[in-house]
Amino acid sequence: MKFYITTPIYYVNAKPHIGHAYTTLAADVISRFQKSQGRDCFFLTGTDEHGAKVALSAKEAGKDPQKFTDEVAQEFKTAWKNLGIEYSDFIRTTETRHKERVKKFLENLKEKGILYEGEYKGLYCTGCENFITEKELVDNKCQNHKKEPEQVIEKNWFFKLSNYTKQIKELIESDKILIRPEFAKKEALGLLEQGLDDFSISREKVSWGVKLPWDENQSVYVWVDALLNYITAREYPNLKGKWPADLQLIGKDILKFHAIYWPAMLLAAELDPPKELFVHGYFTIDGQKMSKSLGNVIDPNDLVKDYGTDGARYLILSQFPFGQDGDVKADMFKEQYNSDLANGIGNLLSRASNLIEKNFDGEFEKKESSSVKRDFNVLMLEYKLYEALKSVISGFSELDKKIDQSKLWNLVKTDKEKAGKILSEIASEILVLAGELELFLPETAEKIIKQFTQKNIKKQEPMFPRK
Ligand SMILES: [Zn+2]
Repeated sequence: MKFYITTPIYYVNAKPHIGHAYTTLAADVISRFQKSQGRDCFFLTGTDEHGAKVALSAKEAGKDPQKFTDEVAQEFKTAWKNLGIEYSDFIRTTETRHKERVKKFLENLKEKGILYEGEYKGLYCTGCENFITEKELVDNKCQNHKKEPEQVIEKNWFFKLSNYTKQIKELIESDKILIRPEFAKKEALGLLEQGLDDFSISREKVSWGVKLPWDENQSVYVWVDALLNYITAREYPNLKGKWPADLQLIGKDILKFHAIYWPAMLLAAELDPPKELFVHGYFTIDGQKMSKSLGNVIDPNDLVKDYGTDGARYLILSQFPFGQDGDVKADMFKEQYNSDLANGIGNLLSRASNLIEKNFDGEFEKKESSSVKRDFNVLMLEYKLYEALKSVISGFSELDKKIDQSKLWNLVKTDKEKAGKILSEIASEILVLAGELELFLPETAEKIIKQFTQKNIKKQEPMFPRK
């Protein structure tokens, strides 16, 4: 059995921040879960590197756009390595393999007669070298350049979206393209209800992009370029056994592109739409919108520096349920780390291993798991990552309570046999929980399993030093 999961590819205009990390970590956890269920999971992430805004950022940084994107893409890779994220492939839209396959895809659509030449009318800021929408204007001016944009008409190639809207509506309604959570499905259907215009797949005035193979004066529209990564990374057109995606994780802001444009492009090329889109929410940091000017942008690398790989993974994944809007309580990171990890799991492991080492020659009898009953797999299959993680953490804390309630440190003196039985149950349960924890905190889980399966269990250095 195969499973193919994707994250959006991230725009290289910004360095990796906690928002990117959140989605990519979620994909990593789901990928690890699928592998634990015996599936051959392919996990794709990458970077979106074309477009006028990237070219402008490169110019502002005094760099050639390719050099600029090379550097930012590397920062993403480094961040994912620091967070222990194990992707199968990292696609960059400036790679030759991607560009060649984008061209092939569009040539195919042109041959099928789905593309046509037309005029694109829009507001254009020469400073940005990009079209901007009315919504982006402040006092009729571009916010970056404090200049009124010009009305521009240019020749573009258009995609006949109207051919596919009815079919896409049916696919979404029947859950053949499953969109979760429910609010996102409703929103996608609402967009289809409003009616959508054909969209242009190329731009005349944007030079930093993939050139249209039959018209070198045109660059492929950056969204079309970006969406195609999900199949170019799988060697389009040789997609046998590699497509459709089982799960595409996206943010709310890119729903229209993924729920409508993307399936339409696939249907036009006679390919299946993705099986599922899972949409996650927006988040605030300590109650405020994340922004450069507020200085509250969290760099995942800083979190790793402060709390270690697993500490950072924990703090990012344990904030609020996956799929909802929520608040990241950054001012509580330290407290949360200490209470849940240092004093929670860490303390339990020290106590249990210490009791086994001192009183039972470092050995325990493995018991069938019984004490903690949780539907961990059910939660994971529904992508309830937060709930699944919480259930593991509370499983550990139950065991800690069990040591307290049975006063094990006294019981070993008065009734050693009974103490040994309870301790064996606790140690066996620790191993079960470690297996579940592996999806979220892989390094920690590996250490726990090593410690509690070795012949001579010993108390070790604290797994989570107090901060
Ligand atoms: Zn501008």
